[in-house]
Amino acid sequence: MGVLDIVPAGVVTGKNLYKLFDYAREHKFAIPAINCTSTSTVNAALEAARDIKSPIIIQFSNGGAAYVAGKGLSNKNQEAAIIGAVAGAQYVRTVATAYGIPVVIHSDHCAKKLLPWFDGMLAADEEYFKAHGEPLFSSHMLDLSEESKEENIEVCLKYLERMAKINCWLEMEIGITGGEEDGVNNEDVDNASLYTQPEDIYEIYSKFSEITENFSIAAAFGNVHGVYAPGNVKLHPELLAKHQAFVAEQIGSSNPKPVFFVFHGGSGSSKDEINTAVNAGGAVKMNVDTDTQWAYWTGLRDFYKKNQDYLQTQVGNPEGEGKPNKKYYDPRVFIRSAELTMKQRVEEACQDLGNVNVL
Ligand SMILES: [Zn+2]
Repeated sequence: MGVLDIVPAGVVTGKNLYKLFDYAREHKFAIPAINCTSTSTVNAALEAARDIKSPIIIQFSNGGAAYVAGKGLSNKNQEAAIIGAVAGAQYVRTVATAYGIPVVIHSDHCAKKLLPWFDGMLAADEEYFKAHGEPLFSSHMLDLSEESKEENIEVCLKYLERMAKINCWLEMEIGITGGEEDGVNNEDVDNASLYTQPEDIYEIYSKFSEITENFSIAAAFGNVHGVYAPGNVKLHPELLAKHQAFVAEQIGSSNPKPVFFVFHGGSGSSKDEINTAVNAGGAVKMNVDTDTQWAYWTGLRDFYKKNQDYLQTQVGNPEGEGKPNKKYYDPRVFIRSAELTMKQRVEEACQDLGNVNVL
C-alpha cells in the first residue's frame, strides 16, 4: 500500500490532505515544500517528485507570488502577490494530474503586515470552493510569531474558522525562527523564544482542534531561516517529540504523535537532525528554498561556463564564423540546465526526508 491508495494524483485538499499528512506521520517521512517562482521552478519540482515516486508541496512566498505575476506589475495593496499566487496555483492545478503524483499547493509565511495578501488568496479559495467544492489552495501559512502569543493565536483562530468552512488547511508558527545574523549571535543563548514551550503547543492544539483537525504547527527549536555555516545554531529537534508526548498526555491520546509539525529554516541542518524531527517528532513538511535556489543557479552558471564561446554572438563560434548559436541561447536550453540541477536538489531533499518511493 502507498500514498496513491489513499489519495488521488493531482492537487490534494481537505480530508485528502489530512490523510496524506497522517500517512506521512505514521510512516515517518516528511514532504518537502519547494518554494517556486515560475512555471519553470514548479516543473522542476514536479518532475523530481514524479521521478522518485513521491508527493510534493509547491509553495509560493509573498515575493515569489508577486514574481509569478511579473516584476513589472505594481504590488500596491498586495495586488501582484494575490494575482501571482492565484495564477501559480491555477497553473499547478492545470498540470499536476499529468505528473501522476499528489500535489499540495501552499502559500508560505504571511506576517501581520501582509494580511491583505492572505485575504486576497482566501477570497480566491472561497470563489473556487463555490464552483468546485474545494479551495484553490490546499493550505496557507500564517506567521504571527513576531506578535504576542495571545495575538498570534487569536488571529489564527479567526482565520481558521473561515478556512474550516472551505476545508483549507492552516499552518501557523509559534516561537522565533531566527535570521542568519540572529543565528550567529544567539549561538549559545538558550533563549526560550527560540525554543517553543510544550505548554504553548498544547494551548494551540486544544484551541484549534475545537474548530478543525486541519492545521499544523511550525514550532521553533533553534531554527534559522536562510543558510548558515554548520555549527552556528543549536538545533534541538528532539524537542518536537517532547511536545508530542506532552500533548498526547494532556489529551489522553492513544496516538503518541497527535500534532502535525512543520520544519522551517532547515537549510544546512544535518541528516541526523532531520531524522529526529521527522521520525520521532512528527514533522510532516519541511520548507526548502535556499538550497534549491542555489541549485537552480549552479545549473545556469555551469551551462554558461561550458558554452561560453557559443554565447557571445548570435552567429559565430569556435566551429566557424558562420555557425549559428541559437541552440545555446534559446531559453529552453539554458533554463533547462537550471531546472535539471534544481530537480536533482529536490530529489535530494525528498531522500533526506524519506519521501522516496512512497506512492
Ligand atoms: Zn518560519
